Amino acid sequence: MSKDNKQFPVEKSEKEWKEELSEEQYLVLRKGKTDPPYKNKYYHFDKSGVFKCAACGNKLFDSKDKYDSGSGWPSFTRVIEEGAVEYRDDYKLSHKRTEVICSKCGSHLGHLFHDGPEPTNNRYCINSTSLDFKERK
Ligand code: FE
Repeated sequence: MSKDNKQFPVEKSEKEWKEELSEEQYLVLRKGKTDPPYKNKYYHFDKSGVFKCAACGNKLFDSKDKYDSGSGWPSFTRVIEEGAVEYRDDYKLSHKRTEVICSKCGSHLGHLFHDGPEPTNNRYCINSTSLDFKERK
């Protein structure tokens, strides 16, 4: 799905992604589709643990940074560590948005907005389908 020719540490062919991911995961992670608001796996979800990329397993977000934004999608104030994601300008709507992609495999995760809580004001608005949760024991 790269619009540019950037190479990621994990690169797979379209055929491989289609074989490894479910149809829904393929459409969201590789084609940029958006989960339906509210009716998605991790919106109302408050277990303690780590959210990984559903395509490659890269650690992306910690549950301690998850909050209820009221948006209908899982929202986080920060990424788990610097470099976990990359950003790309997205002009699919009439206004420019910042797309958030996995830094390891380039898969689509969601978008970053700046109407989140203090002190970061960040709202990482992320598709549940792009995430794979690992509970902290
Ligand atoms: Fe990934």
